[in-house]
Amino acid sequence: MIDLSKYTKELSKLFSTAGNILIICHINPDGDSVGAQLALYHYFKSKGKSVSLMAPNNLQEFLKWMDGVDDINIFIKDRKKCRTLIENADLIVMVDFNQPNRLGESEEPVLASKAKKIVIDHHLNPENFADLIISDPTKCSTSELVHELICNVNGTVFMNRSYAEALYVGIITDTGNFEHGAYSSKTFRIVADLLDTGIVKEEIINLIYNNFSSDRIRLQGFALNQRMVVLPEYRSAYIYLSKSDLKEYNHVKGDTEGFVNMPLSIKGINFAALFIEKDNFIKLSFRSKGKFPSNEFASQYFSGGGHLNASGGEYFDSLENTIEYFLKALKENVWRF
Ligand code: 5GP
Ligand code: MN
Repeated sequence: MIDLSKYTKELSKLFSTAGNILIICHINPDGDSVGAQLALYHYFKSKGKSVSLMAPNNLQEFLKWMDGVDDINIFIKDRKKCRTLIENADLIVMVDFNQPNRLGESEEPVLASKAKKIVIDHHLNPENFADLIISDPTKCSTSELVHELICNVNGTVFMNRSYAEALYVGIITDTGNFEHGAYSSKTFRIVADLLDTGIVKEEIINLIYNNFSSDRIRLQGFALNQRMVVLPEYRSAYIYLSKSDLKEYNHVKGDTEGFVNMPLSIKGINFAALFIEKDNFIKLSFRSKGKFPSNEFASQYFSGGGHLNASGGEYFDSLENTIEYFLKALKENVWRF
């Protein structure tokens, strides 16, 4: 457990002296990154600060209903405006990532900016690319971490409905609706405060989880039926989807979200991988149950990282060769499963 109160003085100073604040989430933003970003946004706005938002690339459909998302500027869609926001910022807050390459194509201008930079994140092993790095891997989500920091700076619990909605989305998406991850009794105490603002959890869950197209559900069926390989000898299973598979099911961004978790519900399976064929590389997602460090596996073999039980990486080769390489990597780790 990290004593976050040690950051209060420095954060208070950075927040109060900043003229223009820019908050940035990571590339392919998930619910926690956008949740933490919007929570900070609602906090700064309530304090009358000048605050802007940026994402390296597009948001997924299931997040587009949240209060404040329309104010998120997308770097790859509006480079000129985003470069101006980066240049004019005197404080940049980056949330839910700890490696500069998660800024995507905005990495170069952000790193070159003269603004003070803060990273707020809950992944292991942060890289040193900001003036202040607040990293707490014991938190279930960056959203939970942001809330504690804001309350410390505020001197008392900060809360309003839009802020609560953003934090709730961050917490449920990073814990699979309280199924996995580092949530604690403290998380539930925070959630109690969030629900007291009047947010309707059933509505939020419907917007996040029950908002799929029929194509997406059919793709899920196809992936499980035709593209899942179970390897009992490694207590592992993987799913692979080629570009043409995705095309056949009219795939849109976000459709394969959650697929990697499915093999873990098979009895005896402790490690699951998902391979998605992109234009010139393969994107990998990993999930594990128990002690197997999926993040070490991701970083050792697939230039990636993440959490103990949820990680990802990439490999610049064909789908076939990537799977072959993955099987070799499993073999080298057989003693760990
Ligand atoms: P997902 O499988 O949902 O895309 O990613 C799960 C987690 O793995 C993310 O929260 C992130 O921490 C990590 N992750 C995914 N892809 C990468 C990657 O390419 N590099 C690194 N360092 N982490 C990744
Ligand atoms: Mn997160």
